[in-house]
Amino acid sequence: MPSIHDLRPGQKYGRLKAVRLVEKCKHPVSGWIYKHLWLFKCDCGKEKITNAQIVITGKGISCGCYKSELCRTINKPPVTRHNLSHGATVGGKTPEYRIWGQMIRRCDSPKDTRFEDYGGRGIKVCDRWRKFENFIADMGLKPSSEHSIDRRDNDGDYCPENCYWATKKQQARNTRRNRFIEFNGERLTLAEWAERLGIAGSVIANRIDKFGWTVEKALTTRNGAKRILSYNGKMLSIAAWARDTGLTSGTIGARLKMGWSIEATLTRPCRFAEKTESLL
Ligand SMILES: [Zn+2]
Repeated sequence: MPSIHDLRPGQKYGRLKAVRLVEKCKHPVSGWIYKHLWLFKCDCGKEKITNAQIVITGKGISCGCYKSELCRTINKPPVTRHNLSHGATVGGKTPEYRIWGQMIRRCDSPKDTRFEDYGGRGIKVCDRWRKFENFIADMGLKPSSEHSIDRRDNDGDYCPENCYWATKKQQARNTRRNRFIEFNGERLTLAEWAERLGIAGSVIANRIDKFGWTVEKALTTRNGAKRILSYNGKMLSIAAWARDTGLTSGTIGARLKMGWSIEATLTRPCRFAEKTESLL
């Protein structure tokens, strides 16, 4: 994982070349520096000041010119994957564009044959992804023709946090209806276990696939991720506090596990936490 602390003038990410650090932004409550703004120069000649983290993690690769090139091309045939992936100004209905259109139709249009499994179950496409240029900027191009869009949480919406490119094989593993899990003499689908236990299907699947838990542990461990913290008159989930304070959910969870008070957990800057932990 690249770090913003290692960023130096002259380094290049996509079309953006780092020029200089402009500002370190401090969170007003915690005092923690949560972003580094850098000046970048784009290949097209434009300059842009932006959050360096977004650039070095590959989420922003140009001043915006790449996106508008892609956008301009989508209705202009012919296209090949080759010239699209090189950002050239020729285009047409790319595989990504077709996938985007199908995603919207199965969520929006009751006439779509798969509507019942998507829009009919309350699954939506987020507002940002109503624009193809935003969709392609967040998802990037498909890694291969075998890949299609999949959601981590099958009951969740189509949005940047929930979606990734997956092969058919990966998708089948994540499908709520055709995955059966046997436990205590019962054979139920992942979705049925999820409903019965009040744990999201994606949580159960991740426990087994990603973390290698046994079926018993995956089905019998209560889900603590939804814990609500009350502080300063506000009640928020750990994820919401993370957004609010500029800390990560991981840091907040780890501090609580170590027995920190809610106040210390939410107000101490992260650097300090790391130092104390290393002294222990
Ligand atoms: Zn540019």
